[in-house]
Amino acid sequence: MTDDGRTQPFDVESIRAQFPALDQQVHGKPLVYLDNAATTQKPQVVIDTIREFYERDNANIHRGVHTLSARASERFENARARIARSLNAESEREIVFVRGVTEAINLLAHSLSDDWQAGDEAILSELEHHANIVPWLMLGQRKGIVIRTIPVNDRGELELDALPGLITDKTRLIAVNHVSNALGTVNPVARIAETAQAHGIPVLVDGAQGLPHGPVDVQALGCDFYACSSHKVFGPSGVGALYARGDWLDRLPPFLGGGDMIEEVRFDGVRFAPPPSKFEAGTPNIEGAIGFGAALEWADGLDWLAIERHEAALLQRMTEGLTEIPGLRIVGQAAHKVPVVSFLIDGAHPHDIGTLLDSMGIAVRTGHHCAMPLMQCVEAPAGTARASAAFYNTLDEIDQFVAAVARVRDMLV
Ligand SMILES: *Cc1c(COP(=O)(O)O)cnc(C)c1O
Repeated sequence: MTDDGRTQPFDVESIRAQFPALDQQVHGKPLVYLDNAATTQKPQVVIDTIREFYERDNANIHRGVHTLSARASERFENARARIARSLNAESEREIVFVRGVTEAINLLAHSLSDDWQAGDEAILSELEHHANIVPWLMLGQRKGIVIRTIPVNDRGELELDALPGLITDKTRLIAVNHVSNALGTVNPVARIAETAQAHGIPVLVDGAQGLPHGPVDVQALGCDFYACSSHKVFGPSGVGALYARGDWLDRLPPFLGGGDMIEEVRFDGVRFAPPPSKFEAGTPNIEGAIGFGAALEWADGLDWLAIERHEAALLQRMTEGLTEIPGLRIVGQAAHKVPVVSFLIDGAHPHDIGTLLDSMGIAVRTGHHCAMPLMQCVEAPAGTARASAAFYNTLDEIDQFVAAVARVRDMLV
């Protein structure tokens, strides 16, 4: 902020310079990377942190008396503390390291449902990623759990008015996306949590696409659980975090069994370690967790007010540019969106759009975006083409992308 309270303009070039992968050519053209909802590129500081860890501190954690093990353990636990701070959790004991959002939700589907009975209900939404659908469907098949869904309207927004009517005295959980990876919709999770709380129902938020677009405050959201994946937020793959409020982790039974999650093992009984260890069986992704911590520490140092304006400008430029292209339909026009734009072109298959864009150096994703039920709701059964920007994308890249889509349309239609 400047002295008069206005934010500085966002210096996108100095941010880009920290991401080596952005500076390359693809098919002889400068790379325009617009597949950030699938995974993000990594800043040099994250790459260096992981390399340094292997060059200096590599050892298994928590069990060693030797120096390297102590260093590795300390760095691992520091990463947990960083994640707790970044999410504004009350304590780092509320943070479990997992492989990512997928594992976090599988953990909860297993552990939360311990005392659920056949006929109990979970409320999801039509806007969910398969990671927040399939574990509940599997549970449904195993235990006879009934799945209800908050409907989505033709702008790609949740119809929140329907929520009270979905809640019954058998509702055990509401599990919703923070931000839709497929359409970019930002969902009113705080309002959902408020409604849920009034009925004493816990809320799980799939935060995979929440963290990359702004600071998250789990206490302000009022959710019981928040799941995130490092690779979606400029960190390494194969690691993520599950936030569980207060004493939830004390009350839930463990998910995976093995080393590190025990206090005492005998053939006539096992006592589990206190949380979060109770949920971290086996050797974790140590360097991944440390890299995740480095990514969040880096992101926490950015000017998020300026980023918010920059991302709004990216979204506006993308939306306006694509709208001018004849026969193009943007799927998902929610009032509150991140710079993710799904689209269809009359007479062109999304896969062909993606392939031609790649030949021009532009990376987008095509298909169902792990959200097949949503694709049915928005009448895009073959999926869409999706451009998803991060704050390191420039307005110039958006212009190149829009011009390329116009050319692709002329080639295909
Ligand atoms: C990517 C994503 C997931 C799954 O995350 P993983 O890292 O693959 O486990 C879940 N939900 C949303 C909204 C996502 O974008």
